[in-house]
Amino acid sequence: MAAEVTGIAVPAESNTLRAEEERLRGMLEERLGIRTRVASLPGTRALLVSPISAGSPKGLIVDRSVSAAERISLYVHLAAHIALKHDLPLITIVESRGDVTSGDENKHRDADRLARAMWWGTSARADGRELWPGRRSRVLRPLLASRPGRIGVRVLLLVLRRLYYAARARRFLEDTVVARSLRDALCVTAVVCAAPELAAGQAGPDHSTA
Ligand SMILES: [Zn+2]
Repeated sequence: MAAEVTGIAVPAESNTLRAEEERLRGMLEERLGIRTRVASLPGTRALLVSPISAGSPKGLIVDRSVSAAERISLYVHLAAHIALKHDLPLITIVESRGDVTSGDENKHRDADRLARAMWWGTSARADGRELWPGRRSRVLRPLLASRPGRIGVRVLLLVLRRLYYAARARRFLEDTVVARSLRDALCVTAVVCAAPELAAGQAGPDHSTA
């Protein structure tokens, strides 16, 4: 997994993105028994530590430099690791910043593939659908498949957001389907820009067994 540098002047993390990260972090604890905390992890983005007994909570430690969008992408990736039963007792799953050179490369690749299906709500696995609330976005998914598409959509959405505030449209559109769709599209786009491996164009079959 590697963040994509889009060359766009990305504004400070939006409240929407932070709120979504918080919501998904809560869901991770509720559905998967994962407790998250932040620490300094030089060279590593996150560690998932599994306890010796099945009922105890797992510990997710995320590096403090990881953005909200990237944290969301890590959550879906780790949910995929768990669906694939990589979280064996006392095993630590390491999400490094560079290329994985250990024998775990295949596990991370499999998790990426399943995470992509879980993210877009196309996982054929029942546990994949249970573990993650997928977004069935027929419009955004093809648009975000390529790097130029991601950059174009991001710029367009940021311009729309600026207009939304500049034109004081917020007064009329707050809590409407327009505002919700814009917020949702901004979140999905920010996460896929931070984690291009979630883009639909990166082909690979979903693991539909089990
Ligand atoms: Zn991984």
